[in-house]
Amino acid sequence: MKSIIKLNDLGKSFSGNRVLHGINLEVNPSEVVVIIGPSGSGKSTLLRCCNGLEVAEEGNIEICGKPLLTNGTMLADHELNHLREQVGMVFQSFNLFPHLSVLGNVTVGPRKIQGVDKDSAESFARELLAKVGLAHKADAMPATLSGGQKQRVAIARALAMKPQVMLFDEPTSALDPELVGEVLQVMKALATEGMTMLVVTHEMGFAREVADVVVVMDHGRIVESGPPDQIFVNPREARTRSFLQAVL
Ligand code: ADP
Ligand code: MG
Repeated sequence: MKSIIKLNDLGKSFSGNRVLHGINLEVNPSEVVVIIGPSGSGKSTLLRCCNGLEVAEEGNIEICGKPLLTNGTMLADHELNHLREQVGMVFQSFNLFPHLSVLGNVTVGPRKIQGVDKDSAESFARELLAKVGLAHKADAMPATLSGGQKQRVAIARALAMKPQVMLFDEPTSALDPELVGEVLQVMKALATEGMTMLVVTHEMGFAREVADVVVVMDHGRIVESGPPDQIFVNPREARTRSFLQAVL
């Protein structure tokens, strides 16, 4: 089985400050890998390296078997953009285009980047909006939506590019507690449909229920990884235990 994301000995510094050390990680087709760990441990940086938003200066990244980073050197721009389309990303802070309607947000990528015609882009967008429970909001502007609705639009927008894998960086952390469930529900449905997902979250219930593999990070390293039962019930590492004690 060919992995969708493969990180090999990945290392990254920000102006001399090392934030990722020797990261090895594979995400296989239809797998849900959840990354947990304290704030500042490098989770966001790791995700951002996977879609070329950050450049790691050490190691290798393959996306669907194609090299994105080879010994710390990124692909050239035109190839990079193509590979990036394979990797959808959802951020904590939604990042919707405020001047575009919901439908506009979901169709702009396919139309501008992939050259999809308006009718096809809109009909697929409406399908995706129905999937995230927002068919009735197609013509709404982002400012009129709740946080949970905005995040579901952001998920539909990422899916519109037909990615091979979805990255989620704390997708529910900016939401009021009563809105968290609707977003997790959509993510769970995606996982059930077989979407490959790499998810950073503090929602331990989601990790336990949905993850195939849980990866624990601390100080830029992977401390431990394994199935949820191992990590939550029988963690091997003291740093995993102390993190879990702090959050559970
Ligand atoms: P996490 O997502 O686990 O909270 P991050 O990946 O955001 O961790 O950050 C890891 C470390 O890298 C932190 O020490 C953070 O301050 C630092 N860092 C992240 N982004 C930058 C940046 N753009 N410039 C400098 N330092 C950064
Ligand atoms: Mg982060």
